[in-house]
Amino acid sequence: METVPSLPTLLQAIARDDDEATKHLDAVASLSPKAEKLAWKRKEKKMQGFVEDIGKIEDQILALVKEKMPLDDEISELREIMVKDCIHQKSDLAHLGTHIVCKFCERKLSIPRKAYNAMVEAQAEDAVDEVSE
Ligand SMILES: [Zn+2]
Repeated sequence: METVPSLPTLLQAIARDDDEATKHLDAVASLSPKAEKLAWKRKEKKMQGFVEDIGKIEDQILALVKEKMPLDDEISELREIMVKDCIHQKSDLAHLGTHIVCKFCERKLSIPRKAYNAMVEAQAEDAVDEVSE
């Protein structure tokens, strides 16, 4: 059975055969025709240009993100204050039957007693109407 050489043995062999290995690499690298190599090199140069252009755009994005950061901080600070001092405006309120939730400050609010009593009476009247129909 053939045994696999250890890594140090392999590394020694590579070092010893360095010239030989270089010859092999040169041989493989010289296989493609010159015209194809030139065309490929042009594509490589074009690719480098694209990569440079992307780099410039990424620098701009980074600068914009940095410019945006203080505004993000202002927004979160202001939002925190607005949540603390929330006035529970109607457009943020959701009636969940037994209570009301403010979607802005996420507080659970009870239905004001008067309104609740009126609602219960109205439901009772609706029930009576349904029975009498
Ligand atoms: Zn609120």
